Amino acid sequence: MKILVINAGSSSLKYQIYDMTTEAVLAAGRVERIGMDSSILVHEPHHTDEITEVSEILDHTTAIRKVLDKLTDPQVGVVGSISEIEAVGHRVVHGGETFKSSVLVDSEVKSEIRRLFDLAPLHNPACMMGIKAAEANMPNVPQAVVFDTAFHQTMPAKAYMYAIPKVLYKKHKIRRYGFHGTSHDYVSKRAAEVVDRPLEDLKIITCHIGNGGSLTAVKGGVSVDTTMGMTPLEGLMMGTRSGDLDPAIVPFTMMKEDLTVNEVNSMLNKHSGLLAVSGISSDMREITDGMEAGEPNATLAFEMYEYRLRKYIGAYAAAMDGVDVIVFTAGVGENSAIVRKHVCDNLTFLGVEIDQELNKVRSKEPRVISTPNSRVAVLVVPTNEELMIARDTYRLAQEANANQA
Ligand code: AMP
Repeated sequence: MKILVINAGSSSLKYQIYDMTTEAVLAAGRVERIGMDSSILVHEPHHTDEITEVSEILDHTTAIRKVLDKLTDPQVGVVGSISEIEAVGHRVVHGGETFKSSVLVDSEVKSEIRRLFDLAPLHNPACMMGIKAAEANMPNVPQAVVFDTAFHQTMPAKAYMYAIPKVLYKKHKIRRYGFHGTSHDYVSKRAAEVVDRPLEDLKIITCHIGNGGSLTAVKGGVSVDTTMGMTPLEGLMMGTRSGDLDPAIVPFTMMKEDLTVNEVNSMLNKHSGLLAVSGISSDMREITDGMEAGEPNATLAFEMYEYRLRKYIGAYAAAMDGVDVIVFTAGVGENSAIVRKHVCDNLTFLGVEIDQELNKVRSKEPRVISTPNSRVAVLVVPTNEELMIARDTYRLAQEANANQA
């Protein structure tokens, strides 16, 4: 069974096609600058060189049609015809309280995703464009949706409620939801396999640190707390996002700097974090280069980033009354040995001890970087959200087939 995975943004779309008999990626690619002139399609088939095409792609429906042309092309294609694609899986950022797991798309599901536009105004409308575009191109193919928030729906109320008037929860569903759920789910399961212990017995802290970042406390395989909140702004310091701050700073800054709601939102989401503190970049590579060159603002940015990350690890060890495994994943977590070193070298109170040589090894495989004596296993596990989406989509499509039979 071939499954197409689509991750739609407002002007971009990423895709991967899987053969689920082996879980092999047959092709991957992306379309950028949708709706602008000089749109770019990059197609990377597994059997030959990648190709890049520049053309005018005015909307997501055209983007998916072009992708399907490439997937069925005699030279760079990987399927004989579109009918070989048995289901499409979509990444959807916000599933609110409604979606506790992945589901097949029907008109009710689409209405509910639309109702959630309020909670994720930048992300959910783009996801919906991807769903509609896939339906327009492949009207008889089942579509599934996989939510970034779903994995965290197991959080208890004490973790997800904010200490503000309850009417705001009742009227507007203001609560913590958490994000990167597909990644936290994937790496915690993979970590249990690597340490060869039942997931049900483990207390795991998963650190998904990329451009955005969140930590999750995974106890017995379920999320019991996570650092992102109602939106992906809360929690860790990130590339361009502030993470936690005193909420009183928002009205104070608006008043003093005469900022609008949009301006203050943009400041906290796009002009804060590593970028603001370092004054150099939101990219951890440039921050560590700056730090090594003795640049004081880069050094402060790195120290704040690492310190906040480490504090949350301590908090989640307390939340679960212990920790067996710490997992690093995503762009920074998978690639930055120096971030892992600084975090782990200062967690001796938990009995964390990493092997400095293993920590420097670069690999695409999951690996243990702690010493045999470490009381906590420390792992680097490359995330694979697309595979999780493909697996859920495959399962839902098979269940639907079985129900029809
Ligand atoms: P992601 O959002 O998971 O794609 O992560 C992107 C971020 O990963 C980039 O902005 C970089 O900060 C970080 N990153 C990628 N490669 C490296 C590397 N070799 N060393 C340190 N950070 C990296």
